Amino acid sequence: MTRPPIRVTVWNEYIHERESEAVAKIYPRGIHATIAASLRERLGADVLVRTATLDEPEHGLTEALLADTDVLTWWGHAAHERVTDDIVERVQRRVWQGMGLITLHSAHNSRIFRRLMGTSCMLRWREAAERERLWIVDPSHPIVQGLEGECFELEHTEMYGEFFDIPPPEELIFISWFEGGEVFRSGCTFRRGKGKIFYFRPGHETFPIYHNDNEQRVLANAVRWAAPSGSPYFGEGRNIPESLSPIQATHVVDESLHKAK
Ligand code: ZN
Repeated sequence: MTRPPIRVTVWNEYIHERESEAVAKIYPRGIHATIAASLRERLGADVLVRTATLDEPEHGLTEALLADTDVLTWWGHAAHERVTDDIVERVQRRVWQGMGLITLHSAHNSRIFRRLMGTSCMLRWREAAERERLWIVDPSHPIVQGLEGECFELEHTEMYGEFFDIPPPEELIFISWFEGGEVFRSGCTFRRGKGKIFYFRPGHETFPIYHNDNEQRVLANAVRWAAPSGSPYFGEGRNIPESLSPIQATHVVDESLHKAK
């Protein structure tokens, strides 16, 4: 039986690539285009990948597009505060309903990630092109499938260090070590409502990290993992116990009691 493709929307604020020549050299069509191309290449007919960016109307995240999205990936850095309240709420609602969310690198400080975590999500950082070693600490997890060895390395990265102010992750998949001595919880999963969330650390705009084979493999695995699964999501509503059904026509329900919030 063939399954319908996972509908992926790759979101990017798309600012550094248009303002910095150095970044444009690494990502000429934007980080989103590189990520989208790698997902298409690795997952083929299993995915339908689209992109959206900050400057599009509604940041490209219309009700219709989000309703048609199984997994949303998010890259932002310079303009977190330009993402409007209604879009943050719209994405949060879709996550509750089951849409997967993959937040990348500096998206630790995005409004949607902070909203879903409920903490500051702040961390220590240093831009010194250090070597990073990502240790796999959950080798059975589908997100690390196909990675070879106990860890993988990135030659030059921006350092993120603990303390990372997030709620305790449901699963911890990667712990990073940096040349300068710090460590960081680099791959974490969370669930909110019916939605699965994966935070993945590497990905600074001045390094070609989204061209890295292991990085791309993790993202492809994460898309499969974060796709909606399980039973349908039901939001708020009054339950009618079997024994009381149907409600007698003579029974008066005081709606005002239920509407008061
Ligand atoms: Zn960065």
